[in-house]
Amino acid sequence: MLSFALDKATLVNYVYLLAAVLFIYGLKMLSSIKSAPRGNLVSATGMLLAAIATLLLVTGGELISFVWIIIALLIGSVSGLVLALKVPITSMPQMVGLLNGFGGIASLLVACGDYTDPFNPVFGWHDELAVGLTVLIGGVTFTGSLVAFGKLQGLKITPGRPIQFAGQKVAIGLLLSLSLAMTLVLTVEGDASWTIPINIASALLLGVLLVIGIGGADMPVVISLLNSYSGLAAAMAGFVLTNYALIITGSLVGASGIILTNIMCKAMNRSLVNVLFGGVGLPVSTAGQGGDSSVKGTARELTVEDVSIQLEAAGLVIIVPGYGMAVAQAQHAVAELAQHLQNLGIAVKYAIHPVAGRMPGHMNVLLAEANVPYEQLCDLETINPEFEQAGVALVIGANDVTNPAARHAADSPIYGMPILDVDKAGSVVVIKRSLNPGFAGIENELYFQPNCGMLFGDGKAMVVALTAELKET
Ligand code: NDP
Repeated sequence: MLSFALDKATLVNYVYLLAAVLFIYGLKMLSSIKSAPRGNLVSATGMLLAAIATLLLVTGGELISFVWIIIALLIGSVSGLVLALKVPITSMPQMVGLLNGFGGIASLLVACGDYTDPFNPVFGWHDELAVGLTVLIGGVTFTGSLVAFGKLQGLKITPGRPIQFAGQKVAIGLLLSLSLAMTLVLTVEGDASWTIPINIASALLLGVLLVIGIGGADMPVVISLLNSYSGLAAAMAGFVLTNYALIITGSLVGASGIILTNIMCKAMNRSLVNVLFGGVGLPVSTAGQGGDSSVKGTARELTVEDVSIQLEAAGLVIIVPGYGMAVAQAQHAVAELAQHLQNLGIAVKYAIHPVAGRMPGHMNVLLAEANVPYEQLCDLETINPEFEQAGVALVIGANDVTNPAARHAADSPIYGMPILDVDKAGSVVVIKRSLNPGFAGIENELYFQPNCGMLFGDGKAMVVALTAELKET
């Protein structure tokens, strides 16, 4: 019997090891657009193996009835499938935000369930420490992600602008100390289940306070940070359950999430400490409420004919895609326009801002789908010095990432964020439907500059019309 139990445990660990190798290999494949879909599949296979091993070998159907497991599996799988099929790619950050939150609350519930399970073997101080930390990180991740979801979804209850009030930093500090104190008491005393509800309440409130203080434009950073937190919470829950697969996956998510957060922080010129502590030090602005009244002037409207003349005269055209290109699904039309310009002997490059669109790498994915050669995609540092040589900067559905206010308006929510220097091109043409603001909710002073003209309309329709006009002339 003993040797069977050992064999079972060894087998489970081998499967977990294989799963971990698949996770790491899958993660590695995510670093290239071509291999990313396969990378997802490889990692998902690892997770399936780990789940099967846990269910069949660890529980053996004895600890919990398979009926409950199958019911939960069906509910989870069906809702996940419906969500994934229905959610448009432009709403991906909200979906990721929600999934992070679910991960956080799941870890919290697992830890609490395990701690209060009367049939559980004796708990040691390290398990109690893990329970306290899981509650803290899981709780913060849950409510923080719900607030981030609300901000991204534009819900009235969670406005996009940073909400900051007197004493907010003190409140954050007090709540964090309270949760840590409850974790300490639980660890030292062991039998102190009264600390858990206090820790839960404090962590949930802390999550809200940490995220409401951050403005809409900084949400990419927040989402990747919460992603990292959800991984850490899962890793902690793995310590509670002594489940190696959960510890490994949680650590991988936590580590890759913090790397992505760091990359996003650099892209947005934000300090990681500011983000970790809920917008501490970020400028407080009301501009996110709907517009920056200091922007004055009249925007110049262009026709398709005007723009095609400008394009034909340019030696270099730099295309600047943004969220509007994704909404219009204009990527194939844009690639066709670029190809036609190149056929006319005009050089074309694409300027990719790291937070253009609504998820990291959004523009790269769309343009790869339209078979745009990877060498034509230039990052911010590479392309900015080239705008001065460009005859035309053709902005397609991008807004915040081109707003010169980021350079000088200290009260703007995007102040300090590096932008694409499109205003330095000989001429700027902006394709969008109106003068409405972008995600950060502020007007774009670019539109009122003398070298800028607006081609109003849907991104795809306008690009198709431009290609047709160029082919006619
Ligand atoms: P913005 O959100 O600043 O602007 C997009 C513009 O697209 C809008 O002003 C809109 O103007 C226009 N648009 C919408 N639909 C269409 C259409 N069918 N045809 C043409 N234009 C259209 O986008 P950017 O890409 O410049 O900036 C991204 C913003 O999103 C940043 O603030 C970033 O911080 C934030 N963000 C980024 C995330 C990421 O990971 N990349 C995640 C979360 C937020 P109009 O209505 O007039 O057409």
